[in-house]
Amino acid sequence: SQNPVTGDIEPSKLKTITTDQPKELPSSSGLVFGRTFTDHMLTIPWKATTGWGPPTIQPYGPLSLPPSATVFHYAQEIFEGLKAYRDATGRVTMFRPDMNMKRMNTSAQRVALPTFNGAALIELLKSLIRKDKHWIPDVPGYSLYIRPTLIGTQPALGVQPPDEALLFVICSPVGPYYPTGFKPIALYGTTEFSRAAPGGIGAFKLGANYAPGVVAQREAAAKGYAQNLWLHGPDHHITEVGTMNTMVVFKQPNGVTELVTPPLDGMILPGVTRDSVLALARDHISGQSAPIDGLTEKLVVSERPVTMKEVKEASQDGRLVEFFGTGTAAVISTVDKIGYLGEDVHIPVGSQTVFGNPPKIPREAERYRSEHPQVPIPAL
Ligand code: PMP
Repeated sequence: SQNPVTGDIEPSKLKTITTDQPKELPSSSGLVFGRTFTDHMLTIPWKATTGWGPPTIQPYGPLSLPPSATVFHYAQEIFEGLKAYRDATGRVTMFRPDMNMKRMNTSAQRVALPTFNGAALIELLKSLIRKDKHWIPDVPGYSLYIRPTLIGTQPALGVQPPDEALLFVICSPVGPYYPTGFKPIALYGTTEFSRAAPGGIGAFKLGANYAPGVVAQREAAAKGYAQNLWLHGPDHHITEVGTMNTMVVFKQPNGVTELVTPPLDGMILPGVTRDSVLALARDHISGQSAPIDGLTEKLVVSERPVTMKEVKEASQDGRLVEFFGTGTAAVISTVDKIGYLGEDVHIPVGSQTVFGNPPKIPREAERYRSEHPQVPIPAL
């Protein structure tokens, strides 16, 4: 922890206050992403003098904060997003929460918010999920989205490290992220705005990274595209999408199939789904796991810079195999076109793809989840 002399998060001190007004459970089919919240939330206060205070599970409801709290003035806010899934046997698991805890601490450090013991917060997430377990949809493709958040709450208008903070966690039952369901999406290759810059904050999950994207998102939507594909620099390097990392598959002239994703250069978020897809593809190559079903081509995996020029040329030459986004909320999203400098670059979907329709990587990701239930939640 950043404050070793003071107390860390202590799951044994958990207090639970049960709601006396439980909400009616929504039907899965009517869920819009992130609009419905479960009955309870977790809060953990922090003070520079004493460290992390007692965790409390309490009814989901408004927070009371002074208007001078630093979060409202200088965006002292970080967050995470992970999911709990109910599998076919009814067992509930969180997907790789250790990765989210690590990233949350990295984000906290970047904006001088307090760090914490990730394993301790995972224990508390389990308690929260257990409390609201009946909210986890058991429809395939649906899950419980978990949103840990940390804000600076010190009542002071100076720009400085806050000496008070609040960590809270809310949960939302979710289905598909895009309103079009799990169908392929169109991206707008964005050159008018930048999401991140060298030496900036693009690699951290800060609220400050998202508000400036809303105007660009609105413009992309007005042009008929689902999301911005952020292009960086004069060569229009592909970086990432609003809430997804990007993967491109090329058939190289030597016959090799290459799965490419931009490197973690400080400008893109190190996605947990990105890491999982890379692990699956590398396991396939090394023969360490069962091969990706039906994938017979020789596969190489590259974390390397990739430009729109390369994607466009491959599309024109018939060597662009597919393009997809990876993210916790969006899962694996197939892309069928990219608007770029006034025209559309078309991307194959369906039977001519390697990973695509029927989507093998998504199916493999499901398998990854079932073979690596990182954190089962006992008593569920
Ligand atoms: N990039 C950005 C900007 C994101 O917000 C997200 C969602 N956290 C991702 C990529 C994907 O990361 P993950 O796979 O960890 O959800």
